[in-house]
Amino acid sequence: MSAPDLIVRGKRVLAADAVEPTPAAIHIHHGVVTAVTPFDEAPSGASIYEAGDDLVMAGIVDTHVHINEPGRADWEGFTTATRAAAAGGVTTLIEMPLNSIPATTTAEAFREKLAAAAGKLWVDTGFWGGVVPGNLHDLGPLWQEGVFGFKCFLVPSGVEEFGHVGEDDLRAALPVLAQLGAPLLAHSEDPKIIDSASTVAAKLPGKKYSSWLVSRPCEAENKAIELLVRIATAAKSRLHIVHVSSAEALDIVRAAKTTGLAITAETCPHYLTFAADETNSLGSEDPSYIGIPDGATEFKCAPPIREAENRERLWAGLGDGTLDFIASDHSPCPPELKRKETGDFFAAWGGIASLELGLAAVWTSARARGYSVGRLAEWLCRGPARLAGLSRRKGAIAEGRDADLVVWNPEAGFRVEAERLHQRHKLTPYAGRDLLGVVTATFLRGRKIFERGEFLAGPTGNVLKRSEA
Ligand SMILES: [Zn+2]
Repeated sequence: MSAPDLIVRGKRVLAADAVEPTPAAIHIHHGVVTAVTPFDEAPSGASIYEAGDDLVMAGIVDTHVHINEPGRADWEGFTTATRAAAAGGVTTLIEMPLNSIPATTTAEAFREKLAAAAGKLWVDTGFWGGVVPGNLHDLGPLWQEGVFGFKCFLVPSGVEEFGHVGEDDLRAALPVLAQLGAPLLAHSEDPKIIDSASTVAAKLPGKKYSSWLVSRPCEAENKAIELLVRIATAAKSRLHIVHVSSAEALDIVRAAKTTGLAITAETCPHYLTFAADETNSLGSEDPSYIGIPDGATEFKCAPPIREAENRERLWAGLGDGTLDFIASDHSPCPPELKRKETGDFFAAWGGIASLELGLAAVWTSARARGYSVGRLAEWLCRGPARLAGLSRRKGAIAEGRDADLVVWNPEAGFRVEAERLHQRHKLTPYAGRDLLGVVTATFLRGRKIFERGEFLAGPTGNVLKRSEA
């Protein structure tokens, strides 16, 4: 074993797949963990970072992030997003293929994206490709160039460069993905159900959150997931359902898992935190105010944040393993696109910005429901690393893995001050909210990149490619 160039040690280290943290020393050489030993085993002369009472966990892997560069860098960008990630303890992120121009639906577009990212990555970053109508022959080349899998939409995506697919497109694409071994990540809402629900909702006041909710019913998610399960089963392909918000869909996912289909599913911090019908401690001056306030379009996303009862069933779905993990779906836009001046939920861009707050948001709610930090590490680190095929390098503190670490205090609380977030635009539904879990330091491949509010190492993140993972 090579002599470590750094040891990170503490009283609470969450190594490998441990349920509870224990005192340990993490030995690091050239950015890789070479051993996890008892706390006192440190060769004399080694440089030591003392985490003290803070928890030391694997760096978070966030597989659902919209960065929008090139083309819409005024919405978010590689520099701002990856700095926000570092501040939030996220050391690996996988970027979504849409909202950039061009969208990542051809190998050429992928190369443009890599060029735009060059020199701007503060954490390790990989990329998803896209399945859109007519790009069947681009899937193989994208996979060869190193994307980790493919995203598609079953409903309009919100941007014209990224068309949504129908049943015929899926029946053609999934056998191709099956042959490659690539997962399909699906935004699962049925367009017909959304259309008819939207017609009903259009007659309701646009400033009311309840109107938005009427336009995106659970049924649309349930139906779309059923269709995807049928097609993926026939094609024997891998299927991942992104941002599950309908708790009714959990039965469908659970049943599909028992058939042997390689299906996984994620949910997001906002579905686990907020509720459409619950007193919102921040939303109104009036403490009896129920639900998401009128015009609070920072809460708009699709599928939508639903009722408290639905939220609790999502938590139960995480608890029993039906939902595999949690990803942020960080998707910001310029504040004017949120239409705060009219507060019209139908006109506003849908997307919630929370990359930097995922750890604290999820931990605050998880702890309140009795879940351990060990479960948290499964949901935020190991589960997403598995989806991307990154488990040999990322997602756990273990010999041979990259020394990506987040050192944080699970007992410390803070109030979210939007202006202090590092994302490009500060609008977020978490503003003013009290959360638990403060990041002390973030290490990327053995290098301290963030500590107590300061960025330390510059943009030292790598592009991750599937073939090298
Ligand atoms: Zn998304």
